[in-house]
Amino acid sequence: MATQEQLEVRALAREFAKGEIRPQAEAWDAERALDPTILAKVAELGFMGMLIPERYQGLDLDLVTYLTALEEISWGDASVALSVAIQNGPVAGLLLRRGAEEQRERWLPELAAGEVLGAFALSEPEAGSDASSLETRAESVQGGWRLSGTKRWVTNGDRADLVVVFARTRPDSQGADGVGAFLVDRGADGYRVGRRERTLGLRASETVEVHLDGVRVPDEAVVGDPTRGFQYAMESVILGRIGVAAQALGIAQAAYEHAAEYAVEREQFGRAIADFGAIREKVAGMATRIHGARALTHQAGGELQRLREEGRVRGNGFPSPNALAAMAKLTASEAAMWVADEAVQIFGGYGYMRDYPAEKLMRDAKGPEIYEGTNEIMRHVIAREAIREVKEARGG
Ligand SMILES: Cc1cc2nc3c(=O)[nH]c(=O)nc-3n(C[C@H](O)[C@H](O)[C@H](O)COP(=O)(O)OP(=O)(O)OC[C@H]3O[C@@H](n4cnc5c(N)ncnc54)[C@H](O)[C@@H]3O)c2cc1C
Repeated sequence: MATQEQLEVRALAREFAKGEIRPQAEAWDAERALDPTILAKVAELGFMGMLIPERYQGLDLDLVTYLTALEEISWGDASVALSVAIQNGPVAGLLLRRGAEEQRERWLPELAAGEVLGAFALSEPEAGSDASSLETRAESVQGGWRLSGTKRWVTNGDRADLVVVFARTRPDSQGADGVGAFLVDRGADGYRVGRRERTLGLRASETVEVHLDGVRVPDEAVVGDPTRGFQYAMESVILGRIGVAAQALGIAQAAYEHAAEYAVEREQFGRAIADFGAIREKVAGMATRIHGARALTHQAGGELQRLREEGRVRGNGFPSPNALAAMAKLTASEAAMWVADEAVQIFGGYGYMRDYPAEKLMRDAKGPEIYEGTNEIMRHVIAREAIREVKEARGG
């Protein structure tokens, strides 16, 4: 059952999404840009620092409340939710778990206030699902490091002030070992934003290429152990993935509401199309998949919250929070894609037109099936743990 805090935060987020985000979402999609003031407004509500403790001026919400707010923002527009999720999840989460106290004090209050926008640069042109094959290099120099390489698909990368860059600190290392996580100031010499991608959906979100041409960072910019950054990245994507699930839920809920309303209004053969069995079946399927995906997402959030309170990152047994987050991301993103497709179908020819919201939601829904690890990788994560559990039970 939802707590009083969850209900209040949800109501606040829905009101904000309804008044400030949704009315502009279509224009932002067409212009491929968010209103530059929108993230400042999100920050005024504290939503740029939802998981940041109060001592760093954050809201310090529990994870389920965070997911609830993120879903509502995504209900307004998933491009806004994507920026908010990167800030709260991988960026702030990494600093909280692995950052030194000076790094937290330096960055967390400004992230919470929305004065600093964060980005997470792991993927590369040749290192996507196999992110541990990354080739960006970090060369040790007097007093710091010099970063060189190219990062791909960096969300917020164009406007971000703080970019978490993953780079290989040991030239002879391969895979997950010998990778560091670096806090890079976007204004650093040699940090260059390349191509802005032309995306299918989430068009108002900035997805850019980033070139690091010998960017100098001081030793203080390294998060934790300079050889364990990849492990930190994988911890961060657990939180990232349940955030993606919440984004997908917002898209699905919006598509469902538009389609159900349209089904009641639209008449054919002298009656509302909502009276036809074929349409009722779709409505039932949409509502059921959304509720099922939300229950799983909140379960994953609850488990992860329990671990946070215990000061742990990974859990034992199957499904661990890692597998649960993958299940939530998989289920919610597939639900969103399916629901958005059905919504277009319920709108009929109008659904295919850009004047109605369904087609945008269908384009937006595809993103969560891909980023923070594709759904094929989610199945791999879940199966790996499930099979390990079976083997262990057999004593193998
Ligand atoms: C809108 C958007 C925003 C993004 N934002 C960020 C960001 O902020 N930061 C960041 O670092 N990255 C970001 N990404 C990158 C994203 O995480 C990668 O696109 C994703 O991890 C997949 O990598 P890839 O695109 O190289 O696909 P590939 O890894 O080349 O995969 C191609 C296909 O092969 C499949 N495949 C690959 N390996 C396996 C396997 N072992 N088993 C089965 N199937 C497999 C994949 O599932 C996929 O279907 C973003 C991507 C998008 C689309």
